[in-house]
Amino acid sequence: MTSPGCWVFDVDGTLVDAMSASSLRPGAREILAHLRNVAAQVIWWSAGGEDYARRMAVALGVSDLVDEFHTKGGRGSDGRYLTDHFLPAVSSPIFVDDSPSDLPLGAHHIAVFPYIAPNVHDRGLVPVARAAGLTPPAEEAGRSQA
Ligand SMILES: [Mg+2]
Repeated sequence: MTSPGCWVFDVDGTLVDAMSASSLRPGAREILAHLRNVAAQVIWWSAGGEDYARRMAVALGVSDLVDEFHTKGGRGSDGRYLTDHFLPAVSSPIFVDDSPSDLPLGAHHIAVFPYIAPNVHDRGLVPVARAAGLTPPAEEAGRSQA
């Protein structure tokens, strides 16, 4: 059992569909609720800014499950996003992102397939649920309906 730790989620294309920014990705609410239950710290950060990230969480009804919102702001000389404006150097967060090449080099991360458009059948967050210690329901294994 790993410690609950700190989870840093990208917003667009990871938790929210990139095309219309209107749909919370399937499984996201369950993962966020689980992380809250185990007392993990949950951060959303976005290139769209801190306010945008907060607005999305509010609009999608999960803002109570997010501890902090931050901006994906400056990049280092390697072109990757800097995190020192909100993450203390001692923490070792788990990043979840559909564009992991932007993350700090060596960052512990889970790369997810981009969530492009609203899709109730999307299963891109299953690896995240597993890593968080949440076992997806059996019916998500691709069983067809009788
Ligand atoms: Mg993204």
